[in-house]
Amino acid sequence: MRGFGLGVWFVLTVVGAVVATGVTPKARAQQNQAPAPADLRVMPVQGSVYMIVGAGGNIALQIGDEGVLLVDTGLAQNADKVVDAIRKLTDKPIRYIINTHVHADHTGGNEAIGTLGSRVAGGNVGAGAGVGAGIIAHENVLNRMSAPTGEQAAAPFSAWPTDTYFTKKKELHVNGEAIIIEHQPAAHTDGDSFVHFRKSDVVSAGDIFVTTTFPILDAQRAGGINGIVAALNRLIDITIPKEKQEAGTYVIPGHGRLCDEADVVEYRDMVTIVRDRIEDLVKKGRTLAQVKAARPTIDYDGRYGATTGFWTTEMFIDAVYNDLSKKK
Ligand SMILES: [Zn+2]
Repeated sequence: MRGFGLGVWFVLTVVGAVVATGVTPKARAQQNQAPAPADLRVMPVQGSVYMIVGAGGNIALQIGDEGVLLVDTGLAQNADKVVDAIRKLTDKPIRYIINTHVHADHTGGNEAIGTLGSRVAGGNVGAGAGVGAGIIAHENVLNRMSAPTGEQAAAPFSAWPTDTYFTKKKELHVNGEAIIIEHQPAAHTDGDSFVHFRKSDVVSAGDIFVTTTFPILDAQRAGGINGIVAALNRLIDITIPKEKQEAGTYVIPGHGRLCDEADVVEYRDMVTIVRDRIEDLVKKGRTLAQVKAARPTIDYDGRYGATTGFWTTEMFIDAVYNDLSKKK
């Protein structure tokens, strides 16, 4: 993941010569990863879509005649670097931000990028009180960020979504491309969306799909293991492999490397198998300690497990056990 030439990459990007081929996502990641300012990496994915890695959660970027559309904004402290990276690719105004979910590593840059983006380009100046990029998300993202009158909100007002949806999906047409934002109920959180760039054939999956850990259930925000399995199955529905199960639709995970459908299938299978094992033990009345002793993740621990850090294997088993126990 380190030490790949970037000078060549930027030249290719400027002349628009980077187009997706049948190369696997992993190989593309290795060929194309290019440090932007500081430690961000920017890579073309396919069609009009780019991926920014290193700002927190992965960011997807769509660039076209109308301007820039971002899916997620990284951590607040990296917002300037993200704007610098975008400005190396285009001077167009930042028109839209779509949030896949509420977490601060995906929404932290909303405030700075949303306002700075429009000020740099001046595209929205004069539009009145709503100056800045439009911020689109499922309404549960707004509910989680805001607070009843008199209480402290979880995020500043200017970071809140300005355009929410509460139905199954929301459709946009931006930069000559149909974009479908699709709610995935009770998965990583209660406000998760997939963002599907139909023409570019890229899906930004948010944290429902990550390549770095076992799936993360935010139980405090109504996430659940069955919702994650359902959402991964839906992701497989909307992705189409090109040939030999490689390439075709690209999937940008919430964290980790660029993927295709085969990667999602592998992850979905793992999550489903582990869920079924724990569910079976719950149905047999086993305690959490007994479930842990049975080591339901053992054959996947080498790939996704962790004993330290933000999301350990133990935390994952706890969360799945608690989730499945409360349902019966
Ligand atoms: Zn998250």
